[in-house]
Amino acid sequence: MNLTSCINKILSVIYPEKITCIFCDAEIFDENKFGMCDKCAKTLPFIKEKVCKKCGDLIKSMANYCDMCQKNPPVFEKASSVFYYKDNIKSAIKKFKFDGCKYLSKYFAEFLADKYFAEKFSCDVITYVPVHEERLRTRGYNQSELLAKDLSNLINIPFVKDAIIKSKKTLYQADLNYKQRQSNLIDAFKVANNKLFKDKSVLLVDDIFTTGATANECAKVVKACGASKVFVLTIAHTIIE
Ligand SMILES: [Zn+2]
Ligand SMILES: [Zn+2]
Repeated sequence: MNLTSCINKILSVIYPEKITCIFCDAEIFDENKFGMCDKCAKTLPFIKEKVCKKCGDLIKSMANYCDMCQKNPPVFEKASSVFYYKDNIKSAIKKFKFDGCKYLSKYFAEFLADKYFAEKFSCDVITYVPVHEERLRTRGYNQSELLAKDLSNLINIPFVKDAIIKSKKTLYQADLNYKQRQSNLIDAFKVANNKLFKDKSVLLVDDIFTTGATANECAKVVKACGASKVFVLTIAHTIIE
């Protein structure tokens, strides 16, 4: 170690790097695993209401499943999200996805890990919803891949990279209506190696769950390769009015 790096090392011990809340940038003095201040911890939009046992949509009736899942059940076993997609979570996810804030992944993964255990999911492998390679080139990273990797370290389940491939360039699901969303995704995904998921219970990770069409298409190709179960875990669930 040379003198400069030695002095820097001493300085970093005396004056540790300022730690700020990942949501509001306020300085925090004892960092918790979620990286946030007390004020933000109290205002996070956790999903606490009764939701559909299949897709995680809000349910106001006594039923266990929403109308959509009763009529046309998705292929995955269950999808679960930690938050509603709104307020500070919405802006944090946007930062994570579009502003290069990759460091947010490890904090979001902590929430996903807690949810995984709370849901008592039991999975053999973790993978994620892919993006098309063209989008990956322009954005530089796939936020869902980062999440899945960090989550895999926290819950000790093997992470599989590039297991599902986005073979077709699709339009943004958010810009489309329900019918268009279904047709937009036809043949959009494929599995890289047919043996990868044979008889496995698979955890599929994504950032946001909107209608579930994307998760469902991924679950279809994964199950077509022999996966026994597919569970879906996302940071946030869109509120459909
Ligand atoms: Zn804060
Ligand atoms: Zn449902």
